[in-house]
Amino acid sequence: MNKPAHLMGGVAAGIAAAKYIAPTVPYSGLVDGIVGSGVVFCGALLGSLLPDIDHRHSYIGRKLKIASFIISKTLGHRSVVHTPLIIFAFTAFLFFLSNELIGEAQALAKSFVIGLSAGMWSHLLLDLMTKRGIPLLYPFTKKSFRIANFKGGGIGDSLTTTGCAILIGLMLLNLL
Ligand SMILES: [Zn+2]
Repeated sequence: MNKPAHLMGGVAAGIAAAKYIAPTVPYSGLVDGIVGSGVVFCGALLGSLLPDIDHRHSYIGRKLKIASFIISKTLGHRSVVHTPLIIFAFTAFLFFLSNELIGEAQALAKSFVIGLSAGMWSHLLLDLMTKRGIPLLYPFTKKSFRIANFKGGGIGDSLTTTGCAILIGLMLLNLL
């Protein structure tokens, strides 16, 4: 999937995380309301693009050149960074790390990580629908799995973007 489709997935994931997940996570509650939702949302936008850091010519790869160069050279594209296990471990690590902060800083950091996690999962889900797939069961097998056969930039991008737009509309209208 291309950047616009991933961003649309990130918007949907961010709204869902702010609406359903963030309120259930016990933290100080110092940043609820519009600020908390905004931070979750920003995290989700970043998370929706972040896994492609393993691809030097991706949008995020061009923004974070040095990190992208190292990761793409050592790990390769659509490898470890595109696996559920690593995304779970990475976001869980950041979440527990935020426990070291106090007060409002901790609440802000946790809100951001909740959004980041939701955005990264949305990225995996969209890449799972592409021809190339993702190594879903890494490290048990490096085999790539997919649930659809879309090519990047093709009809799959239009379908997922439309699907995300419908989801966003339903969530904002409180119909979901
Ligand atoms: Zn990707």
